[in-house]
Parts: sequence; C-alpha cells; structure tokens
Amino acid sequence: MSVTADDHVVVVGAGLAGWRFCEELRRRGYAGELTLVGEEPHEPYDRPPLSKQVAEGKWGLERTNLVTDERRRATPLTWRLSERAVELKAEVPLVRLDSGEMLFATRVVIATGVRARTLPWASAETITLRRREDAERLNRALSVMDAGDQVVVVGAGFIGAEVATALVRRGVPVTVLESSDLPLRGVLGEEVARAVLAKAAEAGVSVRTNVTILDIQSEGGYSHVHLADGTQLRARVVLAGVGAEPALEWIAGSGLALSQGILVNEHFEARARVGALGDIARFPWRGEPTRLEHWQVAHDSAMTLAAWWASGEALAPLVPYFWSDQYGHKIQVLGRPRASATVHVVRGELGEGRFVALYEESDEVTAIVTLDHPRALMLSRDLLVQPTSLDEALSRAPWEG
Ligand SMILES: Cc1cc2nc3c(=O)[nH]c(=O)nc-3n(C[C@H](O)[C@H](O)[C@H](O)COP(=O)(O)OP(=O)(O)OC[C@H]3O[C@@H](n4cnc5c(N)ncnc54)[C@H](O)[C@@H]3O)c2cc1C
Repeated sequence: MSVTADDHVVVVGAGLAGWRFCEELRRRGYAGELTLVGEEPHEPYDRPPLSKQVAEGKWGLERTNLVTDERRRATPLTWRLSERAVELKAEVPLVRLDSGEMLFATRVVIATGVRARTLPWASAETITLRRREDAERLNRALSVMDAGDQVVVVGAGFIGAEVATALVRRGVPVTVLESSDLPLRGVLGEEVARAVLAKAAEAGVSVRTNVTILDIQSEGGYSHVHLADGTQLRARVVLAGVGAEPALEWIAGSGLALSQGILVNEHFEARARVGALGDIARFPWRGEPTRLEHWQVAHDSAMTLAAWWASGEALAPLVPYFWSDQYGHKIQVLGRPRASATVHVVRGELGEGRFVALYEESDEVTAIVTLDHPRALMLSRDLLVQPTSLDEALSRAPWEG
C-alpha cells in the first residue's frame, strides 16, 4: 500500500541513501510527515571525495555537501541531527533515540551505512576515513609534517589505494602496508588485481605486500609501526583502510532478519512498512542476498524504495556499479566480479593502460571491469540488466561502440 498524507515516515541515517530517499519521496508527491535522524552533526554529504579530492587537498569539505538551499526547500522534513537511534521496534514501528525520546512512525527506513573497521594494533592516533571529522583529522596531521616524515597507509584496498594516490600527488611520502600478497584479489580476481597493482609503482606509490603488523606505538607525535619481520617504520600519520562493517547492535532486538546486514526484498523492504537502504541492506542480486558498499547502490536503492512506497511502482532491478580512482587510473565495475570467475579481456590488454574485461561464470556474464574506459563501460551496461551469455556478449560487443 502506498504512503498517504496520514503517514509518518522516519528515516534513520542522514547519509546519501537516507537523504536521496527523502528527496525522491517528496518529489513523488508524499505530503505526510517526514523525519530524518542522523547521528552526525552535519547535513548529508558525499563520502567518495574524502579519499580523493579532499585527501589531495583540492577540495574543501563544503564541496561534499549534498544539501543545497534549493534541495532543502524542495524536501521539507523534520531534521534530527546529532541524534542517534538506539532501538527499533519493527512491528510498531517505533524508533528510540539516545535522548530516550520515542519516535512513533507508520513507516521506518534504515539507512545507517557501515562503520570503519579497526584492528587490534590500532593506536588512538590511527586514523580511519569514513566521516568528515576523519578527513579533518588527516588534514590537521598532514599540516604538521616535517621534511622526511611519512604517512603509513595500512591496507591497499580501495580506500587505502585512493588515499595513498591522493597523498603522493600532494607531495607527501607514503608507504602502503598490505597483509596479503595481492590486494583486491578477492574482489577483482588474480589477473586484474595484478594489473591494477602494477600501476602503483608508476604512480609513485610504494606498496609492501605480505606485511604483518605486530603493534603500533605512538609517542612524541610519531607512530612506530612494528612489523613481524623485525623492521620498524616511523610515521607521522598512520591511516588504516581495512574495510568496514554494518553496525547492527541497535537493531539486534528489532525483529528484523539480520545477516551481515539487513535482508530486504527487491523493493528494499525488510518487512511491511520497514525499509533498509544503501550499505547496510542485503538485497537480492541474481537470486543471492548481496550487500555492497557502493555509492550507486545507495542511490538506486533509495529510488527503488521511494517509487514503491510512493506509488507501488517497481523499478527495474538495479545493476551494481562502483568506481575507484587509484594510482592515476579510473577503475569501474558493473555487476559482481568474483575471484572464481573466468576473465575475458575484450579490449586493450591488462598490461596496457586501458582495458575492458568481462567476468564469466557458468557461461553468464557476471561483471564488467574497465580501466580508463568509461564509455565502453556505459555502453556495456545492458549486458548485465538481463542475464547474458558470454557468446551473446561477444557477438554484440557493445564496448566497441
Ligand atoms: C572515503 C570513502 C570513499 C568512497 N569512495 C567510493 C567510490 O569511489 N565509489 C563508490 O562506489 N563508493 C565509494 N564509497 C562508498 C559510498 O560512499 C557509500 O556506499 C555510501 O556513502 C553509502 O551510503 P549510505 O547512505 O548507505 O551510508 P552512509 O553514507 O555511511 O550514511 C549513513 C549515515 O547514518 C548515520 N548513522 C549510523 N548509525 C546511526 C544511528 N544509529 N542513528 C542515527 N544515524 C546513524 C551515519 O553516521 C551516517 O551519517 C566511499 C566511502 C568512503 C567512506
């Protein structure tokens, strides 16, 4: 049943997905009460620039704002910023805030994202990059660096590689420490991950693989990173990019189905009148519950639920998409690449600057990964909208357009 003017929709999480949902619900004519709860003091902002333009010192944080005066006017709602939801009763539904106040709703949307993972060796000085405050902290730390100081980035995944690239461009010496022998193998598979890593040296980023950190001790404004091979690195700043995880504690007793995220259906409903969006949602992709920390998924999930609740319209299933700017190149990914897939390079070569790679499992194209080929990627999107066999993809070859 669609929303009516008598509804009260409470959205928890004032990030990309929560804000886009509010905007879209209003744009589609919802006239009832709308409340947006966010634990951060800021209006919604964009996170991807934090590890790119902001880390490089090119953008001030204000450029990441998602809310303009015009958008705010177009989306009237009750803002509850600097307030944290601490309990959800999904069957009522109601949301309890950390102040003790109960928000009674007719519908609730959970868009609380993920939090940066920390590792046992992290010291109080170790920075993770998820929020604006983290970016500010990094900038402050960089501003007191002396000649000869370096930054140690732990983890050569997407965030670690992006920050390292941005800092090197800023003229800051960086060493990246990676525990595995090949970062991103689990996401991109062996061959493509190797091709991406090869770009690091060209971009002046030193990545040390197979590194085990035993301990980090901080004193006198420096961190000393002790490695299992007996060496010790002295760093002015240590930044950890070691992944993220959904914070599910506050909804543990909600009655919702939780499994490394919130299980939702194709409309991003966890149950009648309760939705979950963005990084925290596990939605069905090709029949498999899938949780993805991708900007586009956060956006598209918000559009999907808003359309469903506003007018019962079922949008076409979203196609997972993400990009990463690292080592001077743009990686773009459609679908779900898996290390177990067979990779077919259909344009360029992995060793070259640019390529288009199809990932195939059981004769079906499951993902397309490009390096510096944005147009080819866009033209190939159709191959993932419906299941497409490898032969059919090769005969259509949309990436050649
Ligand atoms: C540094 C960085 C770089 C990135 N780069 C890329 C990229 O290049 N490409 C890409 O595709 N994706 C990228 N991403 C991922 C992308 O930003 C996320 O997928 C997107 O922000 C998810 O939106 P969301 O609304 O689900 O969560 P978020 O944007 O995390 O918003 C969730 C909000 O909910 C708040 N919240 C949490 N718990 C509570 C609570 N109990 N009560 C109230 N509020 C709460 C949080 O504080 C937060 O403000 C990047 C992310 C980061 C951090």
